[in-house]
Amino acid sequence: MSPRRVVVAGYGMAAARLAELVRAADPAGERVALTVVGAEPRPAYNRVLLSGVLAGTLTPADIALHDRGWAERNRVGVRLGVPVTGLDRRGRRVRLADGTSLGYDDLVLATGGRPWLPPVEGLSDGRGGPAEGVATLRDLADCLRIRELARPGAPVAVLGGGVLGVETALGLAAAGARVTLIHPAAHLMERHLDRTAGMILARLCRAAGVRTAIGAAAVRHDPGEGVKLDDGSVVPAALTVVTAGTRPETALAARAGLAADGGIAVDDRLRTADPRVRALGDCARAGTPPQGLLRPAWEQAAVLAGLLTGTAPDARYHAGAPVTRLRAGGVDLTAFGETRLETDSADAEVISYADPARGMYAKVALDGDRVIGAIALGLPDAAAALVQLHDDGAPTPADRPGLLLGRALPPAAGPGPDSLPGTALVCRCNSVTKAALLRAVRETGGDVAALARATRATTGCGDCLPAVRRLAARRHETEGTPA
Ligand SMILES: Cc1cc2nc3c(=O)[nH]c(=O)nc-3n(C[C@H](O)[C@H](O)[C@H](O)COP(=O)(O)OP(=O)(O)OC[C@H]3O[C@@H](n4cnc5c(N)ncnc54)[C@H](O)[C@@H]3O)c2cc1C
Repeated sequence: MSPRRVVVAGYGMAAARLAELVRAADPAGERVALTVVGAEPRPAYNRVLLSGVLAGTLTPADIALHDRGWAERNRVGVRLGVPVTGLDRRGRRVRLADGTSLGYDDLVLATGGRPWLPPVEGLSDGRGGPAEGVATLRDLADCLRIRELARPGAPVAVLGGGVLGVETALGLAAAGARVTLIHPAAHLMERHLDRTAGMILARLCRAAGVRTAIGAAAVRHDPGEGVKLDDGSVVPAALTVVTAGTRPETALAARAGLAADGGIAVDDRLRTADPRVRALGDCARAGTPPQGLLRPAWEQAAVLAGLLTGTAPDARYHAGAPVTRLRAGGVDLTAFGETRLETDSADAEVISYADPARGMYAKVALDGDRVIGAIALGLPDAAAALVQLHDDGAPTPADRPGLLLGRALPPAAGPGPDSLPGTALVCRCNSVTKAALLRAVRETGGDVAALARATRATTGCGDCLPAVRRLAARRHETEGTPA
């Protein structure tokens, strides 16, 4: 039997993961003949780490997910720098921008998201792109352009104080630009944080050299001058970086008559209304609206790889609870679930600890003894314990102050990496195995910062931090562990 022809439109983080998992399940290409078509002129890279490139701590080469020879070594056909422009569902073909076309048995849309430009006068070039002196941040080309324009000492405005805006402002300030972060809501990251956390985060931004204009709406952008605010003041800016949110990239699906309002609608097998067309990652609405986060994209890739290769025909995708993380410029923030319930809430037990002068805040919401939401700012151990308790659905220890301060779980307790084989990936963002981490533990003495420097583990989305912490805590046990 000849292999199924699977074409993937988009070669970003979800597509890269899908390709790796398809080839892990079908190394010889006997089940699936895979072709990946990417609009960008380079193989997939770790988009999450673009902030490191912006801050100057990483180079483009550091964040590559696949080298140029990866596709050939893995029997994956790759077309780079050619967007898919059209989709003929009846004939099962996709059209490419270079005039060629590809037939498929299964098509996977992995087109990601695109930055949203708010309707502020002077921000757009009139064709949906950014005007002169304005940039958005989605891909490496954006990142390099911003680096070019935001030279040390240059005045830069960052428009939008969500997680990407705060990260961008801190990164550019670390690289020497004079940054002002403009945010229209009453506090930063209001979708994820309560007022106290937002206020402490703003203090931390200011301590890192970022000016803030919070509760201020931009009304106009003038190239070379900057951003005029609704109170009449002007934030001078040689460059304005817009970080006002992303929208799923659904144009292909919509033109082909597939439901694509707020994300391409897919079921738990990632199928659109046309069972030959699937979608995953930031472009897909799999039950819940796209979260714009890596973890769901990679979980979807695992399900789809099992289905397309036939190695896990019963695999289904169920959206998990998203965890928001921000780590830049010395800020370490984690938030998930119910974060805005107050301590007098009738619906949950809510406890909190705040030390604004030291940039620390922890808050946890409990339903009985289960964690249903938390914020941890400047308290990475508390963050790790809270995420773990939440993910495991484990009962909360009675020592509530200990929970808030990160003393709830002894570092080596509970389920974790101990049961994994050496080949298991602990840090998926940087493809770091347990064996590589244990080797680094032996070589460096093994605190988390040393492991991060040696392997880059924990520097991506941060999901692996609890596991890396536990491996670091085992440094005295690693003598003789095979690497
Ligand atoms: C600066 C930055 C920081 C981030 N930080 C975090 C973080 O800390 N944690 C986290 O969980 N998430 C983070 N994210 C989000 C994360 O990167 C995305 O969730 C993830 O990349 C989604 O993968 P994807 O493959 O769906 O989309 P993408 O990685 O965006 O890939 C989509 C690809 O499809 C291509 N494409 C689009 N249209 C076409 C077409 N018609 N034909 C061919 N190719 C096409 C695009 O050019 C792109 O290369 C961050 C994103 C950015 C930009």
